[in-house]
Amino acid sequence: MLFLVRYSEVFLKSEPVRRRWENTLIRNIKKVLECRVRRERGRIWVITEDENAREKLRKVFGIVSFSECVHCKLHELERAVLDFCRKIGIDKAKSFAVRVKRVGEHDFTSQQKAAELGALILRNFPHLKVDLENPEKTIYVEIRGEDCYIFGEIVKGAGGIPLGVEGKLVSLFSGGIDSPVATWMMMKRGCEVIPVYFDCSPFTDESTLRRAKEVAEVLKEYWPDFELRVVEHGEFLRKVKDVLKEMRLESYTCVLCKRRMLRVAEAIAREEGAKGLVTGESLGQVASQTLDNLMVLDDACDLPTYRPLIGLDKLEIEEMARRIGTFDVSTKPATECKAVPKKPTTKAKLEKVLEIEEKLEPV
Ligand code: ATP
Ligand code: MG
Repeated sequence: MLFLVRYSEVFLKSEPVRRRWENTLIRNIKKVLECRVRRERGRIWVITEDENAREKLRKVFGIVSFSECVHCKLHELERAVLDFCRKIGIDKAKSFAVRVKRVGEHDFTSQQKAAELGALILRNFPHLKVDLENPEKTIYVEIRGEDCYIFGEIVKGAGGIPLGVEGKLVSLFSGGIDSPVATWMMMKRGCEVIPVYFDCSPFTDESTLRRAKEVAEVLKEYWPDFELRVVEHGEFLRKVKDVLKEMRLESYTCVLCKRRMLRVAEAIAREEGAKGLVTGESLGQVASQTLDNLMVLDDACDLPTYRPLIGLDKLEIEEMARRIGTFDVSTKPATECKAVPKKPTTKAKLEKVLEIEEKLEPV
């Protein structure tokens, strides 16, 4: 099979950056698909035997769209177009259009060639009508010098930019609906993300951990190196609960819990050379995601924390999760954290938090 792969934002860059981005894109394609790759300015050709190539290419960030195509030489174009028409079952269609694009020196224009091929198809399939507005079948022909590529479909890719070109981030990955979407968004923008799950057992159980692992498997299809790390967090939570009970400040549990998560994630980021953290927070979504609380969370570490969902509504996030493929796994039954107090604070005060943390052993 031969695929024509299109990418876009790579064009906006200077020559060396473009080169690096293209190399990264090709490396990423080869990581998920056994294939040979050829490149030409603005285009990549992928040659593969893999039957699942379409599904795999759809998940490579940086690909705007792709088409499975047939290659032929210019002098064979007529025959190849008719063969292609038969292959896509044009005899069952009522209308069609031919669209031609051309690169190089030729003694015809794209429009002339399109008209010529259209007439040829009409002669061979007289029941058809030309419909340039809304054709049932479209035959695309791309002519590059003496080489022609024929295809009938433009499949939308994942978009974004090649994963890795922006460097690394560490994600706080719970496996719920939000953090996988946030993680995916940063991957889409070129970041290699290391997902970290904080295991809160005994306040959660293995169902929560299992869910996180399963969601990570879904994102692994976008990036084979996506490996979930699990950090023990329950012991810390237990201590926090004891101290807060004594101070009658149980409402601060979630804020302290998140601050420790951010600190541990930051330590991992520094070890890994990652440049920031990612969380699935969205402003006002749950009681604890307020500007006051986020301010207190940001104080916990020095690296920037990216929150790509901050301005999205729950429904928008759910729709994205469905599209990405994480929704069904993220909504599997899993135990909610039992350490969450009845009334988590929405107005955490930093001085209070620091006072509480004085009483906890440093983490
Ligand atoms: P999500 O849908 O991502 O679970 P949420 O709506 O349940 O988020 P919170 O529980 O307030 O919201 O968590 C906010 C963010 O903190 C999450 O999006 C995630 O990035 C991080 N987080 C929460 N719990 C964990 C955990 N057990 N392990 C790793 N990260 C976590
Ligand atoms: Mg959650």
